[in-house]
Amino acid sequence: MTKSISFIPCYDFSPTLNATYLKQILPLMVRHNVAANPINYAIWYDYVAGNNAKLTEVVNQLISQQMPIDSEISIELYKKHVCNASLESFEKINEHLQKVIAQASISINDTYKKVEITNDSFQKKTLVLENISEATDIKIVLQEIIQETQSLAATSQAMQNKLDDANKEMELLRLELTQVRQMAVTDGLTGLLNRRAFDMTLAEIIEQSEAETYLSILDIDHFKRVNDDYGHTVGDSVIKYVAALMKKHSEDHHYVARYGGEELAIIMPNTSEDKAIEISENIRSSMENSRLKLKDNNQPLHKITLSIGIAQLRAGDDSESLVVRADSALYQAKETGRNKVVHHHS
Ligand code: GH3
Ligand code: MG
Ligand code: MG
Repeated sequence: MTKSISFIPCYDFSPTLNATYLKQILPLMVRHNVAANPINYAIWYDYVAGNNAKLTEVVNQLISQQMPIDSEISIELYKKHVCNASLESFEKINEHLQKVIAQASISINDTYKKVEITNDSFQKKTLVLENISEATDIKIVLQEIIQETQSLAATSQAMQNKLDDANKEMELLRLELTQVRQMAVTDGLTGLLNRRAFDMTLAEIIEQSEAETYLSILDIDHFKRVNDDYGHTVGDSVIKYVAALMKKHSEDHHYVARYGGEELAIIMPNTSEDKAIEISENIRSSMENSRLKLKDNNQPLHKITLSIGIAQLRAGDDSESLVVRADSALYQAKETGRNKVVHHHS
């Protein structure tokens, strides 16, 4: 069986080489102010190892333009250039699948040909057998038939083995495809649906929806302060915490997504107005009542609150018009003091 193409990156396991890389990677990560998490390490590992030309080019560009390499950029770099959870992965898997199928087809065709040839030969031999009377001649023909039967059985067994291999390989590829598909719709930081998946889901729901549907857009209040006071890594953890609250309070048939940096959203199909407001209010109040602490020294973080805008899907809406209304409710929540849920009426 040929080796399955993996979208998971492969690394050299030599301890000496990796120790050398480590000594170069850490200072670079410190210099560019990136958190030393596994995703970032993987990016800077490739950069230092110099075996990922596209990644090196993009990182060099970011450095030369003095662009901060924040978590959003890092995750994009990781997905696109390290983990390769992109169209390229689909293409590779697809290509591999075509090869497996082509190889299995060749084997099946060979077997069919062999069956045809053997069949012809048997028919001819039947005629021969009808016309000979000598026992020794019969014995020779029978031996030939046995040999051909054995050879056909071997070909058929080879085909069976090839089909078994192809089956196993296709099962691996199917699993890989499921993982790549999953990654393509998942936000790397929060595990929620990413923006692309949000856009696609919302468009689909608007097209199909017959029941009451709501959209909540949430923005963390004064989030810049969180980053400024505690650093980007703590900021990331706060986003993850909010994402978990949203998952906890929403229902199984709802879609929770990371809409933008610190803006998150819930699409609530088949949901009453009271329920949509209750869920949003529960998220807001849970956050208000949360007492987050710094992992390092257990110091409490200052109170962090959320503003949420809700809009109901109306006849004639498209994604944009619905998002605009939810956004305008969110804006109103911000303008009127933050830490509140505003439902767009009018
Ligand atoms: P407001 O109450 O008006 O929303 O104030 P704000 O400070 O939250 O303002 P705004 O929404 O404009 O700022 C969002 C900030 O969130 C800016 C950006 O640096 C930060 N941010 C965006 N994405 C991420 C991320 O993935 N991680 C971290 N740590 N910060 C992020
Ligand atoms: Mg914002
Ligand atoms: Mg904000």
